[in-house]
Amino acid sequence: MWNDWKWQAQNSVTQIEKVSKEKIESKFNMRITPYYAGLMENSSTCPIRQQAVPSKIENSEISEDYSKYGIDLYDSLDEENYSPVKHLVHRYPDRVMLETTNNCFMYCRFCTRKRLTRTPNRKNNLDGAFEYIRNNKCIRDVLISGGDPLTLEDEELEEIISKLREIEHVEIVRIGTRAPVVLPMRITEELVYMLKKYHPIWINTHFNHPKEITKESTEACRRLVDAGIPMGNQSVLLRGINDDAKIIKELCLKLIQIRVRPYYLYQCDLGVGMEHFRTKVQIGIDIIKELRQNITGFAIPTYVIDAPNGGGKIAINPDNVLEWNSQYIMMKNFKEEIFYYPEIKGGVNKKNE
Ligand SMILES: *Cc1c(COP(=O)(O)O)cnc(C)c1O
Ligand code: SF4
Repeated sequence: MWNDWKWQAQNSVTQIEKVSKEKIESKFNMRITPYYAGLMENSSTCPIRQQAVPSKIENSEISEDYSKYGIDLYDSLDEENYSPVKHLVHRYPDRVMLETTNNCFMYCRFCTRKRLTRTPNRKNNLDGAFEYIRNNKCIRDVLISGGDPLTLEDEELEEIISKLREIEHVEIVRIGTRAPVVLPMRITEELVYMLKKYHPIWINTHFNHPKEITKESTEACRRLVDAGIPMGNQSVLLRGINDDAKIIKELCLKLIQIRVRPYYLYQCDLGVGMEHFRTKVQIGIDIIKELRQNITGFAIPTYVIDAPNGGGKIAINPDNVLEWNSQYIMMKNFKEEIFYYPEIKGGVNKKNE
């Protein structure tokens, strides 16, 4: 039964006593697939365990007062205010996100959407969301998210995708799912056969550590990519789990070997029970700097902060521009050597207008 995704889902671990010696009452759900639990080591520093099992520190009160920034720690990205109809978030002009379900195969301890995932349900009613997309011709990209949309049955997912495909202005459909990482058996031949009828379909998944790239997750990604589905990866920078250039580098190099392109590296969001996962922003910048010197350009993710209060994702880059005036731009390369790029004469220089 090990390879049967429904067996894995039904036999997921939900009681902390089964995976931890500490008795912790977490405010948030725990749920770990047998497959993912099998990757955990006993040590409290294990990068897999820390993502899945509640620790005491999760219950600590947050001593900082973030209210002066206007941040609601249960919805720091202000998704509710950007939701014109139920279960749909419209932050950017041309694309929307659908919250299809609150369920996940594994509840990540650092999840930003705990306001949804703390009340598991099977499936949301998306009628209003479809109506909204139909009526807004500017929407050309729909992101099917959740929770994890692959917790839905193939038929339920197909119903959503086929309804989107009936809307002429929806050019691409993408799915955000952690299934390839926490339940790779979910990527069945049947699922893939269904998905490829609705191209262009893109999938973004969420590997955070090289240990998550196993024989099984490699096979799941192979199936998807072989079906012509381009895959991206969105990692979160997590203290004590992957906040180290060596680890991120290994992860990114392994990802391109399984044909998953590193897409975003997120600075950890603010939220209840996740304060201990946050790192200084400088750590993220240093990691990107280190990657820029050492690895294939397309193995380098864009480091972003999803701006609290609904600002959207903002790319944070190492600062390579040292000076910029009407004559030239002065910059440094990865060896810290200085180079000049002369500007054209007489053209418009936006920065110095
Ligand atoms: C991240 C996100 C998207 C997609 O953003 P991309 O930068 O295009 O990947 C869309 N809607 C919301 C609400 C998001 O948070
Ligand atoms: S899979 Fe995504 S939505 Fe689900 S708990 Fe993890 S981070 Fe949250």
